[in-house]
Amino acid sequence: MTPSHTAPAPQAAFGGTVSDHMLTAVCNRGSWSDYSIGPFEPISLSPTALGLHYGQSIFEGMKAFRMVDGSVSIFRIDRHWQRFGRSAQRMCMPVIPEQLFTEGLKALVGRDSAWVPEAPEASLYIRPFLFATEARFGVAISEEYLFNTFTGPVQRLYAKGLRVKVEDRYIRAAPGGVGAAKCAGNYGGALYPTQLAKEAGFDQVLWTDGSDELNIEESGTMNVAFVIGDTLVTPALSDTILDGVTRDSFLTIARAWGMPVEERKISAWELVEASGRGTLTEAFGFGTAAVVAPIGQIAVGGKEITLPELTDAAFCRRAKQYLSDIRRGLAEDLYGWNTIIQG
Ligand SMILES: *Cc1c(COP(=O)(O)O)cnc(C)c1O
Repeated sequence: MTPSHTAPAPQAAFGGTVSDHMLTAVCNRGSWSDYSIGPFEPISLSPTALGLHYGQSIFEGMKAFRMVDGSVSIFRIDRHWQRFGRSAQRMCMPVIPEQLFTEGLKALVGRDSAWVPEAPEASLYIRPFLFATEARFGVAISEEYLFNTFTGPVQRLYAKGLRVKVEDRYIRAAPGGVGAAKCAGNYGGALYPTQLAKEAGFDQVLWTDGSDELNIEESGTMNVAFVIGDTLVTPALSDTILDGVTRDSFLTIARAWGMPVEERKISAWELVEASGRGTLTEAFGFGTAAVVAPIGQIAVGGKEITLPELTDAAFCRRAKQYLSDIRRGLAEDLYGWNTIIQG
């Protein structure tokens, strides 16, 4: 299998380039059409389409990789489908049948496989999304939805250690809310606090539960974890935390390597204390887009703690490399994470 070299190089900015085709399916009163694949092009919508007004809009973010033998693998497609279904249920939207999702995405990536980059840290980003299209302007659960998926080549993201601020004024999600759903509004609500943090010289915010304990929840639009002593510590899943596929993959790897893993509450004050004792050795965000985004400095209250430089022995580096090796066919796919299509 000879991979094609015809695709243009992706632009430096993440999300700046799309591939040639897109996938479309519609759901009308609970009944799904088959999917179709056509050229990437604008969508025509009524200005009264419910999703534009009342927020029934969810998405996924996934990746396909160029394997060393030239074929293409899509990472953990089943788990992304499951989460898409949970997001849909929380937003009163229809659950797309697994076969429609899986076969559709495989066909789309196969069609544009020349767009899957070869550089080891590059990949083809896949963006499935679903939104309400019924044309009426009274608040209601939509009877009609459009499912669309497009893809685009992306390079590696975030090389340097981030300077983050423990956010103590704004929150991303509240108990009982929609923080665990991958819905568009969660991102809209996060933009303003993130912009304020950037104006103050930070790269990202570390979201907390809003309590005085400042229990950490996520890092920007990623999950977050810390290495304290020899233990990997990450906030336990709840309805305010997105159940990341990268998070699950890293926890699986850590456990397989015999590393102690704790999913629990972790207060920003505990980080300050562990940093003071010298036991806080790693802090990183993790998610599909960046895989790992190491954190270099954390500001909390009036203090700022600095993480030690990462060595090649750091867990986050080794886990990222191992994950990359699995995706590219350099390490055995022990957990059945790859869906392989011919490229
Ligand atoms: C998508 C997302 C993540 C990361 O999930 P992955 O499946 O690892 O990409 C984390 N937090 C939020 C808020 C997200 O939307």
